[in-house]
Amino acid sequence: MRKAIIMGNWKMNGSIDDLKNFVQKVQKSSNTQIEYGLCVPYTLLSTLKDETKGTLFRVGAQNMHFEDKGAFTGEISSDMLLDLGVDTVIIGHSERRAMFNESDEAVNLKLIKAISKGLMPILCVGETLEERQENKAKEICKNQLIKAFENIDSSDVEKIVIAYEPIWAIGTGKSASSKDAEEMASYIRSVVKDKYGLDISEKIRIQYGGSVKPSNVEEIMSMPNIDGALVGGASLKEDDFTYLINQGGLKCQ
Ligand code: PEP
Repeated sequence: MRKAIIMGNWKMNGSIDDLKNFVQKVQKSSNTQIEYGLCVPYTLLSTLKDETKGTLFRVGAQNMHFEDKGAFTGEISSDMLLDLGVDTVIIGHSERRAMFNESDEAVNLKLIKAISKGLMPILCVGETLEERQENKAKEICKNQLIKAFENIDSSDVEKIVIAYEPIWAIGTGKSASSKDAEEMASYIRSVVKDKYGLDISEKIRIQYGGSVKPSNVEEIMSMPNIDGALVGGASLKEDDFTYLINQGGLKCQ
């Protein structure tokens, strides 16, 4: 059975005090067997590590560079993340692809690097509204996946968590329907199956991301091919995030 995983993405939000309060409250009221954690700005990573010491709370970054070191002003390497005790990293979030010109090639190199360093990558794929309306959602996600998987060995694929995140649902309050999200998650699993075989495709975890909140988490998490959620807005509110991880935990029982 795949272990459910809910991760928050704080994007460019939060102070050290915000994070300390948040983590204390979430840890006090969460009662779950689910895997969960937060992907916070670089400036909050060491606080998150300190505040969650001795727990299974995942400490995640939102990006990294694929090179180990060098003249890349403003960038952070995988070794630097490891230095801080980070265990998870988002790769290829649509905001990075769209606003920071992150290419499929860069996503692939980052994925390879993250795996080689023992970081758990959350690989984001998803289509724009226009692409969905033109019936191209599957084609777009398949292309992103195939390019991301280049030179990734079958023994490493199941270390990746895939987040299906339709761009039109991110930060808009308008989630994909559970039926559409399940259809895409099932399709993504079939792409993994075609490339790596049935066994691996049954093991890889697929999250849905896009306006997940307390009112829709139960239905989304009840879908057979959806193993968790990547959550932006609702992960900034401790009550909402606690609800999501407790609700998601029901999938583990
Ligand atoms: C995200 O940033 O990955 C995301 C899914 O955001 P939101 O939950 O706010 O739509």
